[in-house]
Amino acid sequence: MNVVVCVKQIPDPAAPQALDPATHTLVREGKLILDDSDAYGVEMGLQLAEQSGGGDVTLVSMAPGGETSGLRTALAMGAAKAILVSDAALKGSDALCTAKVLAKAIERAEPDLVLAATESTDGYTGTMPVQLAELLGMPSVTFAKKVSVASGNVSVERQTEAGYDEVVCPLPAVVTVTAGVVEPRYPSFKGIMAAKSKPIEQLTVSELGLDPAGVGANGASQEVVSVVAADDRKAGEIVVDDGEGYARVVDFLDQLKLI
Ligand SMILES: Cc1cc2nc3c(=O)[nH]c(=O)nc-3n(C[C@H](O)[C@H](O)[C@H](O)COP(=O)(O)OP(=O)(O)OC[C@H]3O[C@@H](n4cnc5c(N)ncnc54)[C@H](O)[C@@H]3O)c2cc1C
Repeated sequence: MNVVVCVKQIPDPAAPQALDPATHTLVREGKLILDDSDAYGVEMGLQLAEQSGGGDVTLVSMAPGGETSGLRTALAMGAAKAILVSDAALKGSDALCTAKVLAKAIERAEPDLVLAATESTDGYTGTMPVQLAELLGMPSVTFAKKVSVASGNVSVERQTEAGYDEVVCPLPAVVTVTAGVVEPRYPSFKGIMAAKSKPIEQLTVSELGLDPAGVGANGASQEVVSVVAADDRKAGEIVVDDGEGYARVVDFLDQLKLI
């Protein structure tokens, strides 16, 4: 079974972040890393491909500057190859533009299953994968906490507020996985060395058959009009326990609907 895993390469969340003052979008210069959220999709893809007894995992990513650092991490985990779409024309792409580009790249890989994370760590709209499914003409199942494949179908335990739904749909399909669906493996030294020579096909927008004028800021239907700093955290309320302090704690948790 051929599994495509969408892998977003993001600025290191542990490093200081900056916004472009003109577009209010994240500055994405320099080294990008594998989004932690996508390590779960990579692991899930590897396990499903191994269980199916054939096929492999292809990574697909759209990132600026020909960036491959995050892809190499996922290749070191065991993915076989990668497709990277990188093009100056993509600057300013919103979620739908991203989906259009990734759909074209994914079609080339002829997948039986496409995996993505439920939401990315930096943009976290959670919209890209379902747009992707629509463009690919595939069914989509979101919030998967367990995934298995048999007899041409994918079976998913889909996380809900109350528990989970059991969903079965025909392949090929797009499935988004939650953190915790599997425990991502650490790349071994052998894996890291092997990843250096695994193929990464780098494509431009034109090479995908898309019009560069229809992607990037020109093709975006979303615009970030302003960004405001979050309110400073307010000082907490100190409750002096006169023997009834527990009741105040219970009231407080009740107000927050935590109990
Ligand atoms: C007006 C505007 C301008 C923007 N300009 C830029 C820009 O210049 N450069 C830029 O990099 N971003 C830019 N962005 C952000 C970019 O559009 C989003 O990162 C992208 O749309 C995906 O949205 P998300 O991160 O919310 O994805 P989500 O829907 O939260 O992502 C879910 C999952 O989809 C997959 N996925 C998402 N994005 C990618 C990707 N690129 N490659 C592979 N898999 C992916 C991952 O598995 C991810 O976990 C811009 C956004 C807006 C609104």
